[in-house]
Amino acid sequence: MDLFKQDNAEIIFVALGGIGEIGMNCGLYGFGSKKKRKWLMVDLGISFPDASLPGVDTILPDVSFAKTIKDDILGLIITHGHEDHYGAVLDFAYELDIPVYGTSFLKGMLYAKAEAYQSDTMPQFIQIDSNEDVQLNSDIRFSLIPVSHSIPESNAIFLKSSYGNLVHTGDWKLDKNPVIGTPTSLEQFTDIGAQDILAVISDSTNAWREGVSPSEGEVVGGFEKIFSTSERRVIITQFSSNIARIKSIYLAAQAAGREVIIAGRALARNIQVAQELGVLDPNYRFLSDTAFQDLPAQNVAILCTGSQGESRAQMKKIADKAHPIIKLAQGDLVVFSSRAIPGNEKEIGAIQNSLVKQGVDIVTADNERVHVTGHPFRGEIEQLYQALKPKYVVPAHGEAWHLNQHKIFAEREGYQVAPIAYNGNILKLAPGTPEIIGTVAHGQWCRDGNIRIDTQSASIRERRKLSYNGIVFANIILDHHNEMMAEPDVRMEGIPYDDEFGLDIEEKVIETIEGAIYSIPKSRRKELEKVEEAVRRSIRNEINRLWGKKPLCHVIISKIV
Ligand SMILES: [Zn+2]
Ligand SMILES: [Zn+2]
Repeated sequence: MDLFKQDNAEIIFVALGGIGEIGMNCGLYGFGSKKKRKWLMVDLGISFPDASLPGVDTILPDVSFAKTIKDDILGLIITHGHEDHYGAVLDFAYELDIPVYGTSFLKGMLYAKAEAYQSDTMPQFIQIDSNEDVQLNSDIRFSLIPVSHSIPESNAIFLKSSYGNLVHTGDWKLDKNPVIGTPTSLEQFTDIGAQDILAVISDSTNAWREGVSPSEGEVVGGFEKIFSTSERRVIITQFSSNIARIKSIYLAAQAAGREVIIAGRALARNIQVAQELGVLDPNYRFLSDTAFQDLPAQNVAILCTGSQGESRAQMKKIADKAHPIIKLAQGDLVVFSSRAIPGNEKEIGAIQNSLVKQGVDIVTADNERVHVTGHPFRGEIEQLYQALKPKYVVPAHGEAWHLNQHKIFAEREGYQVAPIAYNGNILKLAPGTPEIIGTVAHGQWCRDGNIRIDTQSASIRERRKLSYNGIVFANIILDHHNEMMAEPDVRMEGIPYDDEFGLDIEEKVIETIEGAIYSIPKSRRKELEKVEEAVRRSIRNEINRLWGKKPLCHVIISKIV
């Protein structure tokens, strides 16, 4: 008898993040009938805020749905240690309280991060090896399948249940020479494909690009060329977790007689973890930035964070001449060894322009082979699908247009593509043909200093208003006859000092306050709150008349009795 009918079972996929965006990946797989459903969470990442969320540190997925089913979540499997896949694990360790499965490198990164941020809650971490068979209950098992990517120990997940088998690719590519780790094995995926794959849930980041992505191995050559031709300092900025890139740069630097200096805590932390675990040769010698002054320019390669233009990272400080130790000079060379994450182009451009004005040369992935992507092109996706022979393709990890390109390509290759299930959509994968059967709570939360807030929070709205329109404080003292005792005390921030005719705006505001007070009969000035409101309105209207914008405004009237 049909297992699904017998148990009234379904296989469900719900993303709480990462579908319809690049970042904040978080997926849930559900197996069994609605009442007895057991779940698996895959990845729990963050993304980064844009200018609409001033002051916010990171963006987290809204996991309120996961909290409602947490007793039935058998585990959280982390595919790899990129922030968009594991960055929110510590944030939710206490509330979700589910075991986290991952490899030793991931564990090293998580613990190092917890130490750096003095996090007091750690999840129960179950360290597993790639290819280890993990039995979660009597019906559900999984194993991590090693794949090439841009960080060590990246994995796809092979999920097995009596209702059907799934492959969640995570971030991957086919790279015959990944510099660190074993290359993605198509033979292994062919063996998996022989076990009846219901669906592959798969990386869409580069699904619009034809051909095959270049290998990390080519980057070594790119850097060898740069190090041997430049006669000055070379500064390289990249993602701090790309250990293979660090190795590529180190090897090329050694060959050119250059010492490698590390600038940036995250970079130093990740190198330490990689060397402790033997992912990176412990004999490689990296220097701290204090070595900068003592080395001749042609014998230095400096690795630093901040390739995305992050305001607090080392690259920005160096470009702003605000770094306490590292100072660049005419003829030095800065290499951007990464691509811009969409949305970061302006900040990166500002840094590059500032460097050029200082006489520093720039090399990017557009001029030299100093970066390769970690995500598969169409030629690689095609080879994976030929190996897996999935019944259905589920595009994941991408913005709407990446997902759509994935769908167009997979259909062209003859695969059945499930309806695009954006964050919060409940996609039923079986029985029957895949369809969206409902939605769950989803959205974004913000990490704001030590506190977690909603994107709709009043404090964010106020910050936006403050940053666009400024603020006015007015302090007025009335005597017991309700007369003003002195000129109102006015403070303004973020508001121009003079109007377009050169008149002092603060003076006009003081006149406006006095006018507003005099216009109210003395007997009615007793109702202080009403007077405050009338003055507040007058100030905002006057500034709007002069400037064309209404600032935030606080009026305090005190009465001496
Ligand atoms: Zn990713
Ligand atoms: Zn990744």
